[in-house]
Amino acid sequence: MSKRKTKAQKTGVGSKTGTNTTRGSIKKAKSSSTRNNVAFIQASDDPSSLSNTKSSTTKNPTELDVPVEWTEALGILNEAHLPSTLPVKWEKTESGLVKIAFDPISGKKYDLELNRFVKPDTYPVRFITLTKGQHSIPGSEAPAAVRYQRYMEEDSRGSLVQNERGEWYAPCIAHGDYVKVESLQADHLQAKIKITKRQTELVEKLNDDPHFAEFLMQQAGMDKFFIKVFDTGIGREIYYGTLFFYELYFNDIDNIWLICQACNLHKSDDETVNWLKKQWLYGQEFLDYLERLDPQRLRHVQILDKIKNREGLAQVTIEWFWDRHAHYMLTNKRLFENVKMPLQILSQKIDRVIGEGSDKRAERLKASFDFKLILIEEIAKAKGLGLPRGTSESLHPSSDTDEYLPVVGPDGKMLRMDRASYNQATTEFLPGFISLLQNSVVTRVEEIESGKLSKRI
Ligand SMILES: [Zn+2]
Repeated sequence: MSKRKTKAQKTGVGSKTGTNTTRGSIKKAKSSSTRNNVAFIQASDDPSSLSNTKSSTTKNPTELDVPVEWTEALGILNEAHLPSTLPVKWEKTESGLVKIAFDPISGKKYDLELNRFVKPDTYPVRFITLTKGQHSIPGSEAPAAVRYQRYMEEDSRGSLVQNERGEWYAPCIAHGDYVKVESLQADHLQAKIKITKRQTELVEKLNDDPHFAEFLMQQAGMDKFFIKVFDTGIGREIYYGTLFFYELYFNDIDNIWLICQACNLHKSDDETVNWLKKQWLYGQEFLDYLERLDPQRLRHVQILDKIKNREGLAQVTIEWFWDRHAHYMLTNKRLFENVKMPLQILSQKIDRVIGEGSDKRAERLKASFDFKLILIEEIAKAKGLGLPRGTSESLHPSSDTDEYLPVVGPDGKMLRMDRASYNQATTEFLPGFISLLQNSVVTRVEEIESGKLSKRI
């Protein structure tokens, strides 16, 4: 049911001269049998590849014989996607971020304006905040671009419900229940600590392997990611990632999903796969799905865990969730809107009336409330009465292939009804049942009242 969402805005890095062109035309790339997901940080042990790279001044750089890890490292140019909603002054911000060198380990950043390293008060890599007053979600004071984009998606918007005070509720897709919209937080599905680690490893590789650095820095757009800064300690220039490089990956929309504060707190930097495995809405079933979708998933060599080297982990997870749990979430929405909310409104009204000291009125309202609640509780527990027998509602798989519902007929005998006839029968039966119920309540009240009256007479 779920369609691919509005595609996140590409970074635009390297898109003009074409990373893809470069990638596609490296004809002699060697395959590596030993590569793993951080293979690009390992120095090549193939001396021929280095000598070939060295001769790049005389050879067409697009036809170099380079280790495959190097060519796969080029994928970082189009790997992370910024949210489609960005601050009004984003271009100015971006041009500033690409001129700042940052070291996530020491927390120091090199300020080109001051021409020296400074240590900022707070860690400078964070969610891109939208222009104040724009694109905020209900109840939120600090709008973040990623949060807003995920909130605005079709499945997320379609599942919102509002309570009697006008507060919006949305489902947390990590645990499946409704929470206040403002308690939804943007969470990195692939832990941010792991992303930063891979980024710093890549910077180390640039500094450790000059030939790799020469190869990588030839690509258009790579200067937005890495800049050289003179290190007085070692007396030469070394590579740093730019603040843009770190912020881009931090804000990669395809790795962000919205979950409630409690789930986010519990998740922390736990290994994502282990964490998903423990969640009842995901579990082994979801892990098997990922495996079927992309058996090579953990062998890709880029910074982010991408499915089929293309789709972000959060994007795939969100789509799977709404496809797999559509029925459960729709049921939750109906319960919230049609059962919980009206009862809660009445219950709050009773509470208010009690506070005002109107005891008699409160008791009248409470009697009506209790009756409704008891009725709902009894119906929820009921078996028989034309409802499917308890056994057919069991999770036991023996009835999985049975197309018929065993229903107790008026004469006490079992009927076998297919689902369509059952739906039709219950739909027709419902108004009659309600009027029967109302009549019997009225009749019983009259009986009791007339009994009281006769006693008084
Ligand atoms: Zn949650």
